[in-house]
Amino acid sequence: MSKGCKCPICGYEFWACKSIFQEGFGMPDMGSGSCPKCKTFHNLTVDEENERMIVTPWEKHMKNKESDPR
Ligand SMILES: [Zn+2]
Repeated sequence: MSKGCKCPICGYEFWACKSIFQEGFGMPDMGSGSCPKCKTFHNLTVDEENERMIVTPWEKHMKNKESDPR
């Protein structure tokens, strides 16, 4: 199943398949990938409710993690 992603940096829309997700993370609903256009490295999270992907630039994602440790 593929889902639409929209790069928050350049606005480019692309598709991500769940197969690109790295299950080694232990988080099958999360993955990472680069925007084909601006090459920004993103964290990708499946938003099952809205059938889309949440695309967060990796740096921002890591900052969010620091401020919200679980
Ligand atoms: Zn982009």
